[in-house]
Amino acid sequence: MKIKTLRHTAQTATLIAIFVIPFMNVWELYFIKGTFYSMDIGDAAIADPLAVFQSMLASRIINIHMLASVVIPIALMILLGRVWCSWFCPYYFFTEWVEFCKKKLGLKLRKPSYSAAYPSKASRFRFIFLLIGFLVMAVIGVPVLNLISAPGIISSQALVVVKFGYVTFELLIVFVILFLELFYYRYWCRLFCPTGTFLSLFRNKHGMTVRKVTDTCSMCGSCIKACPAVINPMTEGGSLHCHNCGDCIDICPDNKKRDTLKFTFR
Ligand code: SF4
Ligand code: SF4
Repeated sequence: MKIKTLRHTAQTATLIAIFVIPFMNVWELYFIKGTFYSMDIGDAAIADPLAVFQSMLASRIINIHMLASVVIPIALMILLGRVWCSWFCPYYFFTEWVEFCKKKLGLKLRKPSYSAAYPSKASRFRFIFLLIGFLVMAVIGVPVLNLISAPGIISSQALVVVKFGYVTFELLIVFVILFLELFYYRYWCRLFCPTGTFLSLFRNKHGMTVRKVTDTCSMCGSCIKACPAVINPMTEGGSLHCHNCGDCIDICPDNKKRDTLKFTFR
């Protein structure tokens, strides 16, 4: 079975869950409650590490309960890489739909071409953007990066619509970001999303990583063309940009003959 099929199943289940959870709460079933900013599953509290970091930075207080709530997401990140992005984030799911529609309509993808210098340039841009967000937050005292967290907004809007029957202006932010995907290929996840950038700080090369496990391959370049992060999966699977989507593994023609490009733990 293709990795993409498994991934799309996980993404669909997540999208359904963000509506089902508030429905359960309306029916007074509270085993799971919250949004992607912060969620309780039974007795376990799970929060977006970026939201927690901003909150502690704004209050200048280190809260042990808040720190405990980021243990699970950070442990997952260390063990499985940025699977949050490509397997669960609803915004990523929508960007894949935008790409699918662009292909069907014969529109240009406008994907940047890969170059060896691209990953470090993109990293510089992403981290400067994140840093600017922290500086703005420090000056005005408002966690501005939460206001542009696409997964947080989508899940909190799902909660608002189920519980109260309306949506708020924040949804417009997601629509605008998503609309621009028509013109700039995967620009949000590649360059701007503060949630994804912050999570990638916990990337661990010993966790799940795409690697070329043979010395030689046909060098067809299919994996590079397929990579939505615009990196070279044969050599840069361990980079901060890779979100373990597995598209490169699915597309690799050599994998049909022998293991060539794979997820590995080392
Ligand atoms: S980079 Fe941000 S919007 Fe993109 S998939 Fe990751 S969390 Fe979601
Ligand atoms: S290197 Fe492979 S797994 Fe990583 S983002 Fe690119 S296509 Fe996805």
